[in-house]
Amino acid sequence: MEIAEIARIKACLNGQRSAAEHAALPVTPSQLGDAAAAAVAAGAEAVHVHPRDATGNQSLRAVDVGAAVAAIRAACPATPVGVTTGLWAAADACARQYQVAAWAELDGRQRPDFASVNLSEEGWQQLTETLAAGGVRPEAGIWSVDDVDALAGYQPRGVWLRVLVEVMGVPGAQAAPAADLILARLGQAGLDLPVVVHGEDDGCWPLIAHAGRLGLAVRIGLEDVLTGPDGQPVADNAELVRLALGVWSDAASSGGAVPAAAPDRMPGSTDARGDERSRPADGGHQ
Ligand SMILES: [Zn+2]
Repeated sequence: MEIAEIARIKACLNGQRSAAEHAALPVTPSQLGDAAAAAVAAGAEAVHVHPRDATGNQSLRAVDVGAAVAAIRAACPATPVGVTTGLWAAADACARQYQVAAWAELDGRQRPDFASVNLSEEGWQQLTETLAAGGVRPEAGIWSVDDVDALAGYQPRGVWLRVLVEVMGVPGAQAAPAADLILARLGQAGLDLPVVVHGEDDGCWPLIAHAGRLGLAVRIGLEDVLTGPDGQPVADNAELVRLALGVWSDAASSGGAVPAAAPDRMPGSTDARGDERSRPADGGHQ
């Protein structure tokens, strides 16, 4: 199946979060299916999830990935479904490789359409090859300009479905400048791939607006943030999608691209260069 490109928004339904963090955080396959359908009804064009095992812990085992994907497909059959390959969800890179290789045995209903690969993690090249060979399109998870350079050196470039520009561990005011550094490096490297931009927590909403101004697709969901653009509580993933589409569309119609350090929604954004070498301190949420 040809996977449609994302024009505006992807929903990230659960991430690494525990059910205790939000009343509507989907964990089980059934909950993921319901949450995906609601997010799609709200405007999401694709979904990204972290499948869980029977105890609610993240899992890359084929049985758990297949159950989550099948439930989402049953709830929204036309929507592309992606999953994490985060190294933290396996014992180590070798165990991850073994588990992801088994996804090739899943039938089309259970197998993810795409999976994110964090280029900062050990074993990402072999993982990418294994995903592609098993019929799962890899997304390049880029957290830094160093990751762009690693991506630029990898062949074949055509293997990638898209690039995820992931700004994490950065204060909200610095999120847009940090994204711009990565985007500029992608351009310099001649990496002409579709892009989805996102941040987390404080950086999430400023990046939705920034990407809207740039006309770039974004992602939103309880993986990235638990509150709305004004810090208000939200009911669920679907509400986040609706709010994000509003912020994105308002920004998109406000006059097109603006410099990253413009004051709109980013007060105090003065140092666009300081984080060039920074990385998230933890495993990130991709
Ligand atoms: Zn994720």
